[in-house]
Amino acid sequence: MIISSAKPFEEILELLKEEDDIFILGCNACAAKLHVGGEPEVIRMQQRLEEAGKRVVGWVVPSAACSVASFDALVEKSPALKEAKVVLVMACGSGVSTVSRVADLPVYPSNNTDSLGGRSQGEVIPQLCAMCGNCTIYYFGGICPRGQCPKQLINGPCGGSLDGKCEVDQDKDCVWELIYLRLERIGRLDLLEKIWDSDGIPE
Ligand code: SF4
Ligand code: SF4
Repeated sequence: MIISSAKPFEEILELLKEEDDIFILGCNACAAKLHVGGEPEVIRMQQRLEEAGKRVVGWVVPSAACSVASFDALVEKSPALKEAKVVLVMACGSGVSTVSRVADLPVYPSNNTDSLGGRSQGEVIPQLCAMCGNCTIYYFGGICPRGQCPKQLINGPCGGSLDGKCEVDQDKDCVWELIYLRLERIGRLDLLEKIWDSDGIPE
């Protein structure tokens, strides 16, 4: 899941300062699950823009903003798009980019794109993977130190952890504590014997 968060409304208004006839495009995938681009947020955005004096011509929430097939496919879902002078996309940067490829209109983001995370048991986990391009997560028991350790240490903890908490953010568990406990549970502590170079290749 791509983690995105809503920009302050004042920033969105500033972005749209010179614009009108706005079409809002949400995203029924990650952004909807994070409550920053689903139907309720899109409707609320329309209300707030209208209260601020902007004309909103319409809106649509495709199944995923990052896989919009074509402009015509969007118009089929919401013909009001044909009246739009600009599009406001309530999704991550990937959604904004994809919409920009199919729409010959200025496309504005309402969200900031933060990280690659997940959601489990109702909890949003903001950072799980750093998208390093060489996935070795198996060797860490499925808990990636590149993605989850603030120092991205891949050969064990920094030594600053206290009572299993991270020295950078003491509200969080040290990821190496979690890796150790997980490998212990699955009987694979032997995987910790591997030493990695800075490119993530075993030495
Ligand atoms: S090793 Fe970690 S950062 Fe790299 S792709 Fe795998 S999960 Fe993502
Ligand atoms: S305490 Fe653990 S998670 Fe925090 S920076 Fe050090 S090794 Fe990384």
